[in-house]
Amino acid sequence: MNDEGEIECHEGADLHVHTTASDGTLTLDEVPAAAQTGGVDLVAITDHDRVHPGLSAPVTQVDGVTILRGIELRVDARGQRIDLLGYGVKKTQALENIIEEIQQNRIERGRRMISAVESELNTALDVTIKEGFGRPAVARAIDESTAPYDYSQAFEDLIGHGCPCYLKREVPSFADAISVLRSSCAFVGLAHPFRYPDVDAAIQCATKLDAIERYYSYRPQNASKNDPGRIETVADANNLSMLGGSDAHDRTLGVAGPPLSAITDLTRAVSTFTDQWSIASCTSRSTDIPSDHTDYD
Ligand SMILES: [Zn+2]
Repeated sequence: MNDEGEIECHEGADLHVHTTASDGTLTLDEVPAAAQTGGVDLVAITDHDRVHPGLSAPVTQVDGVTILRGIELRVDARGQRIDLLGYGVKKTQALENIIEEIQQNRIERGRRMISAVESELNTALDVTIKEGFGRPAVARAIDESTAPYDYSQAFEDLIGHGCPCYLKREVPSFADAISVLRSSCAFVGLAHPFRYPDVDAAIQCATKLDAIERYYSYRPQNASKNDPGRIETVADANNLSMLGGSDAHDRTLGVAGPPLSAITDLTRAVSTFTDQWSIASCTSRSTDIPSDHTDYD
């Protein structure tokens, strides 16, 4: 990041994007246009705890945009929860099993959380609980109800960590998740390393992976701002690729992206793993970083 707060030298790829298959607002059909608007021609769909059901292969080409099938999996690691990014996903029974368990827990937890909110507010919420369900849907329903809470206040007062209606999800262990991801993904990395309470422990976990996210857009957890050079040093010492992506939950893609070296590593890994790869050419670009981003699973 330079003095003007711009992220520099990113290539035309966005390796961290959410859709309506989890808690994003972008549909799969809208991805090519959003990618073109964002100036990227390679997009990894990394929905929370879910492989997008509309992607039929690890790599697809749609309207000139290469879409890489991925996943972002939350796991328990050394006493905290961290997010792992898997790329070039092949559907295996082990992956389907772990996803099924997580989704069942999400649905059950969603039901209990809605019920807790409804009795706390003494009002009914209009919300559908389905696969991929998470707290943003609860917050939106609270916002749209007659209760005097908007989306942010719902998190602050009702369903955020430590709030009266908050319920913790059950997630797989780091070891179990790695075992599954290693057999189902071409490439595995740690998402946003500076977002966790114990950054050292999270980075230690990343040393067992292929990659670590270096370029991500939101403050204040931006890697450069927190600890300039640290991720580069860790990546160099452990032969990790440096990932980059917008972590978009809306329609804005291409806000942050990886260097060309990471795309080369990823391409090689996906190609070997799936016997399938076609990548559009990437172009260097830079962009302003957006406002704060909050993680709500
Ligand atoms: Zn994400």
